[in-house]
Amino acid sequence: MECPRCKNSLKIVSVDGVKVDACQDGCGGIWFDAFELEKMDQPDESAGWLLENMRIDLGIEVDFKKQVECPHCDGVKLMQQKYPANDRIAIDKCRVCGGVWLDFGELFQIRSANPSTAEANQRVSSALLRGLKNC
Ligand SMILES: [Zn+2]
Ligand SMILES: [Zn+2]
Repeated sequence: MECPRCKNSLKIVSVDGVKVDACQDGCGGIWFDAFELEKMDQPDESAGWLLENMRIDLGIEVDFKKQVECPHCDGVKLMQQKYPANDRIAIDKCRVCGGVWLDFGELFQIRSANPSTAEANQRVSSALLRGLKNC
């Protein structure tokens, strides 16, 4: 499958026993097939793992405001929905296949939504900032 944001080819990554399609070495977004997101016991933990293990290509330009198409269904646009566990977070869901696309920043928001992971969060954000400075 192709990344709906940057057209990189998505790689299958296993996280918390669930296989997801990750835009590794691209924009860092993740595709969850229908119910995969719900299958995760602790989505904030999984999001944290992904944040630490994703390699992002900071050189690519991505328009995060653009409405993306489902990588699974031809010509179907994803609809913005509220993340069930935290309605301040918007996720992109396909109304046909039920899959969900999370941008890297949304993973970060899911992770941040849990106050107990604030420390780990800081570690990730400082690692990201270091990466940015090296560019
Ligand atoms: Zn991508
Ligand atoms: Zn779909």
